[in-house]
Amino acid sequence: MADRMTPEQRHRCMSRIRGRDTKPELVVRRWLWRQGYRYRLYVKSLPGRPDIVMRKWRTVIFVNGCFWHGHDCQKHRPTTNAQFWQEKITRNRERDARNQALLQAAGWNVIVVWECQLSPNNRTDTLRELDLVLSRIVLEKTSGGKAYITPQEDVVPIAAEEAVEYGKTGHENRKT
Ligand SMILES: [Zn+2]
Repeated sequence: MADRMTPEQRHRCMSRIRGRDTKPELVVRRWLWRQGYRYRLYVKSLPGRPDIVMRKWRTVIFVNGCFWHGHDCQKHRPTTNAQFWQEKITRNRERDARNQALLQAAGWNVIVVWECQLSPNNRTDTLRELDLVLSRIVLEKTSGGKAYITPQEDVVPIAAEEAVEYGKTGHENRKT
């Protein structure tokens, strides 16, 4: 069933391997924007034309479709023309790896987010992880790569905040 495409249709399909504005991409972009990150899209001058480029943080993000980029989560490969698809996907994976190596060699941080990691069930965890990764990059960059830990006098005592029972002091007081 899966493979009734004419060569021309298939070509069009292939050319969309790095599609624009896919749903998973939009999830990441909207989140980044809300976090205050600014970025460019599909920068052609960089290897692999990364989906998201944050020049300030020397970071690129690829949001990869699991099928085309051959993610390990893909257990259901098409059975019709299996060899054709398999070879195509293998080539895509090789090309991805090559581009990522080129970017890293040029000093870019490369982050790959997979489509399946942005499904409604996984999204929150994935974005939390992305947040951690980006925070580390930002810290590293702003501290000149010297240290993650600030001098003692600058440390904000996060745990020292007084416990406040919001339910009682805030909410109920306002009512009376
Ligand atoms: Zn996947």
